Amino acid sequence: MSEEKQHTTQEFEYRAEMRQLLHLIIHSLYTHQEIFLRELISNASDALNKARFQKLTDHTSGPERDFKITITLDSDANTIAVEDTGIGMTREDLVERIGTIASSGTLAFLEELQKNDKPVDANLIGQFGVGFYSSFMVADQVEIETLQEGGTSLKWTSDGLGTYTIASGDHNVAGTKVTLHLKEDAKDFASEYRVREVIRKYSNFVDFPIYLGKDQVNTIKALWKKPKGEITGEERREFYKFVARDYEDPLGHLHLHIEGLVNFDALLFVPSRAPANLFRDEARRHLHLYSSGVFIRDDADELLPDYLRFVRGVVDTEDLPLNVSREVTQKSPVAAKIKSTLTSKILSQLSDWVKDDTSLYARFFKEFGPVLKAGLWSEFAKRDELLALMRYPSTLTEGEATTTLKKYVDGMQEDQEAIYYLLADSLEAARRSPNLEVFRRKGIEVLLLADSMDAVTIPNVHEYEGKSLKSVAQAGLDIESETNAEHLPGDETDDLLALFRVQLGDKIQDVVISKRLVDSPATLVAPADGMDPHFERVMKAMNKEFEGSKKVLELNTTHPLMKNIIALKAKGDQDTRIKAAVAQIYEGALLLDGTLEEPSAFVERMTRFMVEATQD
Ligand code: ADP
Repeated sequence: MSEEKQHTTQEFEYRAEMRQLLHLIIHSLYTHQEIFLRELISNASDALNKARFQKLTDHTSGPERDFKITITLDSDANTIAVEDTGIGMTREDLVERIGTIASSGTLAFLEELQKNDKPVDANLIGQFGVGFYSSFMVADQVEIETLQEGGTSLKWTSDGLGTYTIASGDHNVAGTKVTLHLKEDAKDFASEYRVREVIRKYSNFVDFPIYLGKDQVNTIKALWKKPKGEITGEERREFYKFVARDYEDPLGHLHLHIEGLVNFDALLFVPSRAPANLFRDEARRHLHLYSSGVFIRDDADELLPDYLRFVRGVVDTEDLPLNVSREVTQKSPVAAKIKSTLTSKILSQLSDWVKDDTSLYARFFKEFGPVLKAGLWSEFAKRDELLALMRYPSTLTEGEATTTLKKYVDGMQEDQEAIYYLLADSLEAARRSPNLEVFRRKGIEVLLLADSMDAVTIPNVHEYEGKSLKSVAQAGLDIESETNAEHLPGDETDDLLALFRVQLGDKIQDVVISKRLVDSPATLVAPADGMDPHFERVMKAMNKEFEGSKKVLELNTTHPLMKNIIALKAKGDQDTRIKAAVAQIYEGALLLDGTLEEPSAFVERMTRFMVEATQD
C-alpha cells in the first residue's frame, strides 16, 4: 500500500450491540456454517438485481456489463472470494449498511440466540437480515472491495472483533468482491468440491449465473412458469428453501397460473413454522415480485393482506411495468386485482385443508392462527370465510383441543340464544373464572379465548349464523343459575347491597345480585353497555390514557359468606370485621379478574383471617 493510501485509511469501532452480535455469531452458531455462502451469494444477487433494474429503467447509466457472480478459491492462501458485478457500495453504504445493524429484527435475533444456551443452528440467520456477518463464523479476516459506477473504489477490512477500517481500494470494475480468510477449521470452504455442493444446495435458483472457476454451477429457471405437472416435489421444496431462506420443508404450497382480467403466475408457500419475529418483522421480504421474468423486488408484501403475512413465494406478472414502486403498486388496479385473487385462492386452499386434511390444518392454525385472526378485524368482506377457519378451545374441549363456531352452533341447547365466550390471559385463567359457573352447571358451552388476538377481534364479530356472540363477563346475561340453595331474604339482600355500595363507593359502578355464580361469593363483570373487561385491559395496555368503564360487582346471595356478614351486622358493633370481609371479597374478585394491582393489603388481611381461623 502506498504512503498516500495508508493515509486515507479510516478506522471505525463497532457499536456495543454490533460487537455483541458478532460475538454470538462467532461463538454460538455451529451447525450449518456453510450458510455463510448462501448469504453472500444472496447479497450478490440482490446487488445484481439492483444493477439490472437500474439498467432497464435508466438507459443512460453506464456501459453494458455481464451480470454474474464469480467464486474464486485459493486453497494455498485459504481464501474464498464471492464477486458480483452488481450495484456496488459507497463509503456511506459501508458504514451505514455493513458497519451498523439496521433493523429491529436483528435485536430479535440476539434475543433468540440468548434464550437457550444450546448451540444455535446458523440457518436461523437467514430470517434476521444479518447475513453478511455470518462470514465471521468461518473467517477471521474479511475484506470487501467495492466500486459503484461513477464512484471511487473502496476497501473495507475487519477481523469481526472490535473495529473495521475503510481505505481506498483498487477494484476497477463496478460491483463488489468479498474475500474471506478462512479459519483453520473452515478450510474445506476453499475446496471446489465442498463449495460446489453448497451452491447446489442453497443457491441453485439464483437468477444470475454463478461461476466456480470457469464452470457455471447453478441452473437458472423460473420454476413458477412451468406447468404444475412438470415440477417435482423435490424441486419445489428446494425452491421454497431458497426463496424463504428456510431450512425446513414448507407445510404446503399453491401454484397458480392466472389468465383473465389480470395475468400472473405465482408459486406460494406456507412455512411449517412461524418465525420468532412473525409480528415484529417490519421489513418484510416474503413475496418476490417479477415482471415478465425480471426480478423487481423481494418485498412486494403489499400484494397480500396483512393477515396472510406468513405466505412466502413468487408472483410474476406481465401486467405491471418494470419500474413499479411500492407506492405505485399500492394504487394500481392491476395490483389490487392480483391481491384479491391471491387472497381468495389462499383462503380457499386453507378451506381445502380443513376439508381434506384436518391434522395439516391444525398444524397450520397452531402456527399462524393468531395472524389469520387479524383478518376478522381488517377484512369484513371475508368474514364468513375467515370465521369458518377459526379454531377455539372451549369448556367442552380438553387440553389444547379446539372446536369451530359451526360445531358450537350445532351443539347449542334448544333455548340457547347466544354464542358465549370468555376472554382471558391464558387458558388456565379462563378455566378458573367464576363467570363460568352457571354455564358449567347448565352444560352450556363457552368458548375460551386466551389468545391476545381474540380480545381485539371477537368483540367485533357480533354474530355468526344469526346467533349473537356474548361475553360471559358482562352484566345483563339472560341466564339464571336456578340453584336450590336458598337466597337471602329480600330485606337482608338490600342491606347487603347497601353495605357493599357504601364501602366500595366509586371504585365500582354498582353492586348487584348475581345469577351466574354457583360456588364463588362474588365476581366482577362489565356493565351491560360496557366493553368486555379483558378487551378493555388490552386497550389499556396499548394506550395508557385509555379510561375503562367501571365494573359491576355481582354477589352470590346463596353463599354462606353473605349470610355470615348479614348475621354479623345484626349483632352490631362488628364494623371492623365486616369492612375487612367486604374488602377481601372485592379484592378477591379483582384478583380472579386479573386486575388486582396491589396485593399486599389482600395478603395482610388474609393472614389476619388465618390467625383467627387457626386459633384453638
Ligand atoms: P441483508 O442482506 O439482510 O440486508 P446483510 O448484513 O447481509 O443484510 O447486508 C447488509 C447490507 O449491505 C445489504 O442490505 C446491502 O445494502 C449491503 N450489501 C451487502 N453485500 C452487498 C453486495 N455484494 N453488493 C452491494 N451491497 C451489499
